[in-house]
Amino acid sequence: MSSILTPNERTFGKSGIEVHQTFGVVDASKLKKLMSCPRDFFYTHVLGWQMEGFNINFAFGSAWHSGQEVIQSKGSTAEVVQEAYEAFILKLQQDTGLPLENLTQIHVSKNPETALKGLAEYAAIWKDDPKETMYVEIAGTAPISDDRIFHVKLDTIKRRKNTGKIFSLEHKTTTRFSDSWQEKWQYDFQVGAYDHFLKCLFEPSEVEGVVINGAVFNKNKRQFPRFPIIITPEMWEMWIYEANHWWNYLEMNMRHLYETSPSDRVMVAFPRNSESCSKFGCNHPQLCTMKANPLQRMDTPPFGYCKKFWDPREREKGAVQKGSNVSIAIKKDLTAI
Ligand code: SF4
Repeated sequence: MSSILTPNERTFGKSGIEVHQTFGVVDASKLKKLMSCPRDFFYTHVLGWQMEGFNINFAFGSAWHSGQEVIQSKGSTAEVVQEAYEAFILKLQQDTGLPLENLTQIHVSKNPETALKGLAEYAAIWKDDPKETMYVEIAGTAPISDDRIFHVKLDTIKRRKNTGKIFSLEHKTTTRFSDSWQEKWQYDFQVGAYDHFLKCLFEPSEVEGVVINGAVFNKNKRQFPRFPIIITPEMWEMWIYEANHWWNYLEMNMRHLYETSPSDRVMVAFPRNSESCSKFGCNHPQLCTMKANPLQRMDTPPFGYCKKFWDPREREKGAVQKGSNVSIAIKKDLTAI
């Protein structure tokens, strides 16, 4: 069934933008971008413009996930830590495109040496039991309404040996452990998506919630705080409402875009949110001051950008359940919540 996100056309209405197969693929990362700045969403997910090169924080976090995948599957022995480190290095090299010798000085607190120390310290502190691990890097879809499916990826799903309760363990890296960093996970939209997927995949009464598995790589010390996020039935319902609210907002902007032509003076779709410009550093600062209607210069990405669309379905190909690929599409009657 076609919708404004999945039109049966090569170009998108009057805008002339080439329709991309990811327009109708929605996950928490895309909706969070829409919440923080609709214009940033337009550049990133409608035009597919990404800055070239790598971001060390993302690359390090992603490599840390690879190391954690090994630990959560196999345990915390010295041999497993070494194997986790090798997985870490492989991923860091893949994502940065740099040889090992160039990685050593890549960041003052996030580099191969601190990662190896961190993996060993982490394993000694938490001694994760691989028998509790049900899935690592599991991806899939869950409904948020009768006709909307939401893409989700979880780092690890575990079942506690003592209580039988199920939770997801989500690895988050940072350079600074602060109250605000810890608090933000309580109301993070992505955490709500993890919890929603768990409650669709299992009986909601079996689900304990989400546990943030922090890894703090500070210049002077490393810390591994872990804290639970418990989402009540009412808060779960509210998350579903919010997910649909932002999906509606996305469709509304896509409808406006469909009716906007490059010859219009102003693009009345995906408005700028100037409150977000300086918060964490936007990827598109120069673009926003150039044109009131960015459709007038969308033919090729600007200097320093390339065209690459974020597609959460790619992660669904690599999920692992004790060594085999898992991608789960859940059908659930949400009216029964
Ligand atoms: S520069 Fe500001 S308004 Fe423009 S895309 Fe970035 S956050 Fe949005």
